[in-house]
Amino acid sequence: MKYIRDISGRLSMRPHFEPIELDRECEQLVCAFLKQKYGEIRFPIPTDALDVLIEQDAQDLDKYADLSAEGDDVEGVTQFVPGQKPLVKIAARLSENPSLENRLRTTLAHEWGHVKFHAPLWLVDTASPNLFGRRPDATSIKCKRGNIVGASEYDWMEWQAGYVCGAVLMPHKRAKAIAKEYLGSIRANGPLDVKSQAAADLIKCIAKAFQVSAEAARVRMIKLRILSELRPGLGFPQPGA
Ligand SMILES: [Zn+2]
Repeated sequence: MKYIRDISGRLSMRPHFEPIELDRECEQLVCAFLKQKYGEIRFPIPTDALDVLIEQDAQDLDKYADLSAEGDDVEGVTQFVPGQKPLVKIAARLSENPSLENRLRTTLAHEWGHVKFHAPLWLVDTASPNLFGRRPDATSIKCKRGNIVGASEYDWMEWQAGYVCGAVLMPHKRAKAIAKEYLGSIRANGPLDVKSQAAADLIKCIAKAFQVSAEAARVRMIKLRILSELRPGLGFPQPGA
């Protein structure tokens, strides 16, 4: 991780992570947490465990929030307050409707990304204003449905939280191991075209193993370069933020 200028204006400097750094840190943090809480590392990660992960580092987690005034499709909000732990709100409809549990899981994992990787910047900035040039303002980040599992790199904070969402629910070593086994079973050794039937079967397998939606599994497999949106052999879009 390195600090670079924050052109969004939220902070004077902001962290830049390589995807592998987020993968390693998330897998290590989540596995250590599961072992401590349940005595074993098991996936899918229980939905309750995602609550506890947030509660460990937030002032409050409200899973029954009315976010209708925050804008269309906003399903999660993290409020950063200088000098304090963050506040997290999740749209009530996700918690109240069992058929939306996968959406609840991805939203919780996404907001944990903000809590773990971004909220400390409001503490550090406050403690050491000279390091970053100025104290940050209180800021709320409003997370829309379309950005929960994967956002464009235009907004670094949403991109990182979207990446963390996949890295928490589908840790890279475990997800890659399942994908490798599947590729071996069909005698394939390279990335699969995301539009192929084999890709659809792999997505189904990952979605089941980690209790996520097919869309979340698809995005994760693309980010881990196991599926390709380009024709095989033409290379990959380069991630990073
Ligand atoms: Zn977000």
